[in-house]
Amino acid sequence: METKLAVPIAAKNLNEARQQTGAAKAAGAEILELRTDYLENISIWLVKKLITEAKRAGRSLPIIVTCRDKRQGGVRDCPQKLRIEVLVGVLEAGAEFIDFEYENFLSVENREKILPGLSQNSKARLILSAHNFETKFPNIDKLYRDILAVYPSAIPKLVYMANHINDCFEAFDLLHQTGGERIVFCMGEAGLASRIIAKKLKSFVTFASIDDESATAPGQLTIEHFKKLYRYDAINSDTELYGVIGSPIAHSLSPAIHNAGFADVGVNKLYLPLLVEGEKAEFDKFMQNILSRSWLGFRGFSVTIPHKQNALDYVRGNQGFVEPLAERIGAVNTLLIGKDGKLAAYNSDYAGALDAITSALCITRTDLRDLTVAIIGAGGVARAIVAGLSDAGSAIKIYNRTVEKAERLAEEFGCDFAGLDDLPTLDAKLVINCTSIGMHPNIDVTPLSKKYIKKDMVIFDTVYNPAETLLLKHAKEVGAKTIDGLSMFINQAAAQFKLFTGQEGNAELMRKSIIGSVEN
Ligand code: NAP
Repeated sequence: METKLAVPIAAKNLNEARQQTGAAKAAGAEILELRTDYLENISIWLVKKLITEAKRAGRSLPIIVTCRDKRQGGVRDCPQKLRIEVLVGVLEAGAEFIDFEYENFLSVENREKILPGLSQNSKARLILSAHNFETKFPNIDKLYRDILAVYPSAIPKLVYMANHINDCFEAFDLLHQTGGERIVFCMGEAGLASRIIAKKLKSFVTFASIDDESATAPGQLTIEHFKKLYRYDAINSDTELYGVIGSPIAHSLSPAIHNAGFADVGVNKLYLPLLVEGEKAEFDKFMQNILSRSWLGFRGFSVTIPHKQNALDYVRGNQGFVEPLAERIGAVNTLLIGKDGKLAAYNSDYAGALDAITSALCITRTDLRDLTVAIIGAGGVARAIVAGLSDAGSAIKIYNRTVEKAERLAEEFGCDFAGLDDLPTLDAKLVINCTSIGMHPNIDVTPLSKKYIKKDMVIFDTVYNPAETLLLKHAKEVGAKTIDGLSMFINQAAAQFKLFTGQEGNAELMRKSIIGSVEN
């Protein structure tokens, strides 16, 4: 059984419903969910008309009719009697599925009204749903069993709010341990990945909205996101999973890059955004959850702020392999999970930066020896680049607002250091901005005044949004050579891609996949 992509039609009236139905079908919906509780003037006549029209226009799709109780997320306070009449009425009009709340189905009176309608329409199915908009269910396994005990041919639908990504694993376990038709996933940003993984684990349906405005539940993705960004059509039970672990993660460019790359080389892999909020304890719990469920098929991660150090500690603590330079940098941004569950950790940031420099200057890493480099900044990115360049033998001077941080970093890697006040005396062939100055939305500032940029310098800005920062604009005006942060970002992603797939990533395609997401 393949998971179906269900699209809610949340219309106030007939005209809106026609428009939404057309859009949903055109975008690739596989089931329509008529959310009749959105209708302003609901009547059995109107709902039947909606169904007849939805069936006739274009591709005929199966229809779920829902008239949600306000206590379970419905938008209008429709009387229970009318809600049941609507659900029974639509069975005659050809709806394949009706969705009723499990807690209301427990009432004998309600049951006695719904069951005769179902028995007269042998093809129609009842979805018995339970929603928790606040948190996890106290016992999701028992709830699942209770639903089937009350009505064995029901399709149980259990949907709850994930307040942390670690809350999702109960949903995954239930899908893994049960078969047949059931709908299980989590709401909220922390639950986003569960809506996609639902297909790998064969949930009966997963829900997508037509666009951001028409989402009917927190964390619902659009059909376009599902299909274009998250390779929906390619997902099956053998799909290997990857993802970027971080917080925040909503605007990460990595899913677009890696999924485009996976599709390009034709591998059965999917890359997800994984919002892991909290600190070391939450990160460790997430990793334990992943490693104790090999059937989920997670094979690797990109790791970003604030977990690069946590990832290194976790791999060290679990006797995994750590790439020597990553060990020295004290942070990793790539994790691999072997078939035996063993972890390996790498840092592709330094490689990404070094590759951006060597390819822009048409030189090899050996040519970096004795190159004079000024690094502005002493945070995480500066650390990775200083480690890489000092390993290659460059002569480095670090400039930072907090001079003590520059001093500590310089001591560790045998470099010079200074405060930002010394920038006017800067004399280096390569200047690298490793601060966030100039990053969107504060794009009108630069870490180095134009008057200190010389024509024979190479100016590298690690900031990649916007692609052309004010610093790079100034450098171009002066006639200096420039390297943008996108090149480094794409290179580090390409290095990760090689670790994930064993194949070279297509850097040009990767750049194209994100170009609309950053300012030019
Ligand atoms: P971080 O660890 O927080 O370090 C930030 C650095 O910027 C510190 O040196 C900090 O100085 C300095 N800084 C911040 N605001 C400043 C200001 N107003 N004036 C002067 N100095 C300021 O951050 P990170 O992880 O190193 O990231 C830095 C930047 O690198 C990011 O903003 C991002 O644009 C870029 N980046 C690029 C890539 C890529 O692949 N291209 C990847 C990751 C990050 P203090 O020490 O004095 O606080």
